[in-house]
Order: sequence, then structure tokens, then C-alpha cells
Amino acid sequence: MLEVENLTKFYGDLLAVNDLSFKIEEGEFGTLLGPSGCGKSTTLRTIAGLVEPTEGGIYLRGDDVTGQPPNERNIGLVFQDSATFPHMTVEENIEYGLKMNGFGPDEREEQITKYLDLVQISEYRDHRPTELSGGQERRVSIARALAYEPDILLLDEPLTGLDRVLRQDLRNEIKQIQREVEVTTLYVTHDQEEALSMSDKILVLDDGEKQQEGSPTEIYDD
Ligand code: ADP
Ligand code: ADP
Repeated sequence: MLEVENLTKFYGDLLAVNDLSFKIEEGEFGTLLGPSGCGKSTTLRTIAGLVEPTEGGIYLRGDDVTGQPPNERNIGLVFQDSATFPHMTVEENIEYGLKMNGFGPDEREEQITKYLDLVQISEYRDHRPTELSGGQERRVSIARALAYEPDILLLDEPLTGLDRVLRQDLRNEIKQIQREVEVTTLYVTHDQEEALSMSDKILVLDDGEKQQEGSPTEIYDD
């Protein structure tokens, strides 16, 4: 489904990612785990097309997408502190992405209803993000990223800034949602517990290089 092949990224002289290769299979929940500055975000942004690789390739569904602009990659993105559009209601936030992806009015209505229900914020449909709690706003971001049914969902530390209890609740929910819609997912975190509890496959990065790769059990035992 997703294949990262010999990815290398320099920012000037700084080597952020060094010859990184991995695969995420269809429907799999993969996680990039490692300390701050190890190259997780750079890798994710390269997959999204927001950062240009110095070397290497990105393949989605077997297609070489290296060099393709982000909007041609059919990717769902949730960043840390993911910005919802403050001047739009929850519904309009989700509709925006659907319009960009060519969904007609009836389909949009259907997708909005389905995905608001999935992330359990249907009752806030007509609210603005500023009227929501931090956790509810994250749910809007997740619904927005999923509603147009991307080939792959990319999440970069989506629980940053939330308190411990909420983080735990949301990580369980994200995992449930991912199972339910069976979307191929790549998740980025520095939190080992988070990675172990959510993932099918974990890639441990350090200094831009892959240190380990395996199931949570395999990683935990090492
Ligand atoms: P992580 O997501 O694991 O924290 P990043 O991919 O953000 O790691 O960063 C990897 C390294 O690249 C860090 O040393 C960071 O400072 C550097 N870096 C990230 N983005 C840029 C950029 N746009 N310009 C220069 N250096 C960057
Ligand atoms: P993350 O860990 O998710 O990359 P950061 O706060 O490190 O978040 O990065 C935020 C933004 O700043 C990104 O666009 C990243 O590319 C850029 N950035 C990160 N490190 C550097 C750096 N050393 N020099 C220039 N830009 C950077």
C-alpha cells in the first residue's frame, strides 16, 4: 500500500532522514516511533508531498508519487495541534475537504453524517471549533481527514497538548475508528506506550535511521 524506498533528506547540511525504507500493508496501522528530532515528521511530510526528498521514492498503491503535489496523492492528514478553520462550523470544516475532493452535495451530506457519527461529535455539527474542547476539536480534524476516504491516513502526534486521560481515551478511539474503516494508517509519536498500544507495526527511528521494525510484541521484547 505505502512503500518508502531509500528515503534520504538533507536540510542544508543537516541529515534529517538517512536511507530509510519501509512498507505499510493495506489496512495496517504503522507507527514511526522515536525521540524529538529523529526525522519522523520529515518522513511523514515527504509521504504527504509537503517536503521534497533529497533521494529516494514514495510509492502509493504501487504508483510512484515522488514529485507529485500533495493534492494528487489522496492522503488524509492530521497534524499536531491540527488547525480546524475557525470561521467555519464543524460541518463546513468537513465539507471543505469533500468539495476539494470532488464530492457532490448528496455525497457530501452522507459523508459528513457518517464521519461525525464515527468520531462522536454529531451534536456539535453546527458549532464553531472555538466552542469545542481540545478533544472535540481533534475529533473534527480526524473526521475531516477521513471523510473523503483517503488511501492512507497520516497522523503526526495528533494527541499533543491534551491531558493524560484524554490522550488515553482518544488513542483507543483512534485505534477503533481505524479498525472500523480499515484505513491504512501511518502514525507519528515519541510516546512508546502510545505506539505499543495502537500499532500493528512499529518502526523505531533514531537520528534519521531505522533502528528496529516489528510488531509491538517484537519491539517490546527487545
Ligand atoms: P521529529 O519529527 O522526529 O521531531 P523532524 O523530522 O521534525 O523530527 O526533524 C528532524 C531534523 O531535521 C531535526 O534536527 C530538525 O531540527 C530538522 N528539521 C526539520 N525540519 C526542518 C526544516 N524545515 N529546515 C531545517 N531543518 C529542519
Ligand atoms: P515536528 O516535530 O512535527 O517537525 P517542529 O516544531 O519540529 O514539529 O517543526 C515545525 C515546522 O518547523 C516544520 O515545518 C519543520 O519543517 C520546521 N522546522 C523544524 N526544525 C527546523 C529547523 N531546525 N530549521 C528550520 N525549520 C525547522
